[in-house]
Amino acid sequence: MSSPSPLQLYVHIPFCVHKCHYCDFNSHERSQPAWDDYQHALINELKHWADSPMFSGRKLSTIFIGGGTPSLAPPKLIKAILDAASTYCGIENDAEISMEANPGTVDADHFKAYRQAGVNRLSIGIQSLDATELRWLERIHSSEEAVQAYRIARQAGFDNINLDLMYGLPGQSLNAWLPSLQKAIALKPEHLSCYQLTVEPHTKLAATHALNPYALPNDDDALAMFFETRKQLSEAGFNAYEISNFSQTGRQCQHNDGYWLYHDYIGIGAGAAGKWDIKNEENTAFGVIRYSNIRTPEHYIKTALQDGKAINSSETLEPKQAAAEAFWLGLRRSNGINRSAFKHRFGIDAWQAFSAELKPWKHDGQLIIDPHSIRLSHKGLAMADAIAASVL
Ligand code: SF4
Repeated sequence: MSSPSPLQLYVHIPFCVHKCHYCDFNSHERSQPAWDDYQHALINELKHWADSPMFSGRKLSTIFIGGGTPSLAPPKLIKAILDAASTYCGIENDAEISMEANPGTVDADHFKAYRQAGVNRLSIGIQSLDATELRWLERIHSSEEAVQAYRIARQAGFDNINLDLMYGLPGQSLNAWLPSLQKAIALKPEHLSCYQLTVEPHTKLAATHALNPYALPNDDDALAMFFETRKQLSEAGFNAYEISNFSQTGRQCQHNDGYWLYHDYIGIGAGAAGKWDIKNEENTAFGVIRYSNIRTPEHYIKTALQDGKAINSSETLEPKQAAAEAFWLGLRRSNGINRSAFKHRFGIDAWQAFSAELKPWKHDGQLIIDPHSIRLSHKGLAMADAIAASVL
């Protein structure tokens, strides 16, 4: 019998001071967000999900408040959401409770209040520590403000901090990227996320890039940045526990790791998504249901305030599709897929399920397959997306 996976909660705060041109998150510029209404809508929605049969009676193992820009939110909203999560779902004693912060919206008193409300991990979106790059990215903060935000977070009592960085910007060489990385390492955060810039469809960046293409790094240059990042972070004591995520010992982001482990999660807020396993009579995962919410904040508020439901779309994944998605996500972890856990959950061995798709990658030395796990080799890291996509 497989017991339910840990249950996680994602809370989306969709408001931003300015919409960065590369951003494809569900973020909206609003000068005066309707915070009270948004808070009530979130709590209504949370209560709805907490009462539903698949989540009822399951305590939350992690909470992640993301955006948008959660650090714009009044502390009383964050406290109200965490209190509601405790009341309606229950929160495990050792739960990781993360929140994202934009260095351009930092307020020392707010940081202290978030910490007092129960937030115990902060993820600061610094993106770069180079003034020209920050301007190109349309960030609302300087590199000095990014460093200052980090210091204020420490003073507020946060002992678990992530810094988000981005590389692969137009015209950026390896030598131009490394100073930002090294300055971030020198701050001694517990965690670093380093993502390559991608031109996402339907962004302002995609539109301008289509008209007048930017000189983005070619594949070889981008790979050089990727591997040098891993090398430097490894030398600085960080463990690359996921393709783009690095942590000091024991400081992996448990919430994001839960996504890669394909745990169930409730998502509340405009544009948030959630999922849960469907179980058959043997209590084996037999497909998945997932949903995503109405994206426009005002429409979300109006709908969620009525009866707590704000779903825009949902879909059911067949067992093989769900297993493929779990495989695809799990391959991002350095430990890869745990074969016995996978079999226990989906009723089928991962290699048996996908050997036809994976054999060429194994043959080429991109995949390591042993009796316990299936994982990417060093060579396979560069092909991670293609390998994972081959099973979908
Ligand atoms: S601050 Fe973050 S969420 Fe907001 S627009 Fe910029 S990248 Fe998107």
